[in-house]
Amino acid sequence: MSAHELPFFFTWSAQNDAFPVEISAGFGSYFETPEGLRILDLGSLTYQANAGHGNQRIIEAVKNQADRLCLSMPSAVYPEKVELAERLLEIAPPGYSKVFFTLGGSDANETALKIARMVTGRFKAIARYRSYHGATMGAASLSGDWRRVAVEPGLPGVLHVLDDMSQSRSRIADVLDYEGNVGAVFVESVVGANGVLIPTPEYMRSLRNACDAHGALLVFDEVLVGFGRTGSWFAFEHFEVAPDMITCGKALTAGYGVLGAVLVHKRVASHFESNVLASGLTHYAHPLGVAAALAALKVYEEDGLIERAAELEPSLRDALIEWRALETVGESRVLGLLSGTELHLSQKAFRRLPEALWRRGVHAHVKPGPGVLVLSPPLSIELEELQEGLAKVREAIEEVSKEEA
Ligand code: PLP
Repeated sequence: MSAHELPFFFTWSAQNDAFPVEISAGFGSYFETPEGLRILDLGSLTYQANAGHGNQRIIEAVKNQADRLCLSMPSAVYPEKVELAERLLEIAPPGYSKVFFTLGGSDANETALKIARMVTGRFKAIARYRSYHGATMGAASLSGDWRRVAVEPGLPGVLHVLDDMSQSRSRIADVLDYEGNVGAVFVESVVGANGVLIPTPEYMRSLRNACDAHGALLVFDEVLVGFGRTGSWFAFEHFEVAPDMITCGKALTAGYGVLGAVLVHKRVASHFESNVLASGLTHYAHPLGVAAALAALKVYEEDGLIERAAELEPSLRDALIEWRALETVGESRVLGLLSGTELHLSQKAFRRLPEALWRRGVHAHVKPGPGVLVLSPPLSIELEELQEGLAKVREAIEEVSKEEA
């Protein structure tokens, strides 16, 4: 099937280059095509399927919610909405007092940016070049990668910094010293699609100290890495530095519903006790998204999936170290069940890799921009499935590397 035959756009792609994937069902770590092909999902689709495919507990919760209460409005109060907000504030660090619900990750970042402007009265924001914060105009302006460039000019006052997260001090701290009028600093706690870059605790502390010194709010984008991906509820817990706002999406519902959220510390939230919170969405806290999120959080907890991501980390890391025997494989960075492996391949070989993976029945994230292969299997994956999948990915890399030679 080609993209031309279909009446909708494929995203982030020229339509001629799109790679349509027919998908009809999913169970556990696999999804299926209508021809019965089983694809091992080492990417958790678009990084959201943390509880795997076809999870009946989450599906039942959504069905029951649809029967009970399917329609809502922003000012409506219903029990599941209260319960989810309470649960998210329990998972957040101490001192968080309010949740703002969104439809996904982009508008979570969009909302955090608006809140920062309203609370600080400052319009500037700093983010990193190696980042993605979403597709809507404000979130795209914050994003540092190629996806911003196509729609420039973006929001005025957004600056990007080329930073090295392996250092003990962020360059953003230096920029804050000179810039002035900065209301917010946005960083992915662990960089996801731009190559899995893991900061040092000192780096994160330098960001926190610099934001405090200059009165800027620190926002951690946990859209891709939140909800167990790195072996803790939130990735920033590894670095013992807490932000002022946390933006969430993707695995908040494990992919079974449409929902994002901004978790807000009380020192920020208190501003809106007597000032208007100038933001809102028709589908704010839509009951089906809320039900999916509540059920997903229960599954993560009951099945010990967060601990499981930490337990499986050494197996993932060991396999990736073995891959270094291949000439085209470089360094890997691993945290929980998220890995980024540097591949020294031509752009042509990079373009061939998704097809070589697909032929072997594997889905993973091939990122020619940063030259990295990103793996993010469901947290429910069995060790044998993971090992089998990793062997297939290695074969696919060998195949495209040979063609290169
Ligand atoms: N932030 C990060 C770190 C992401 O990876 C993404 C999506 O890939 C987003 C924000 C945007 O989320 P959404 O696509 O749900 O709007």
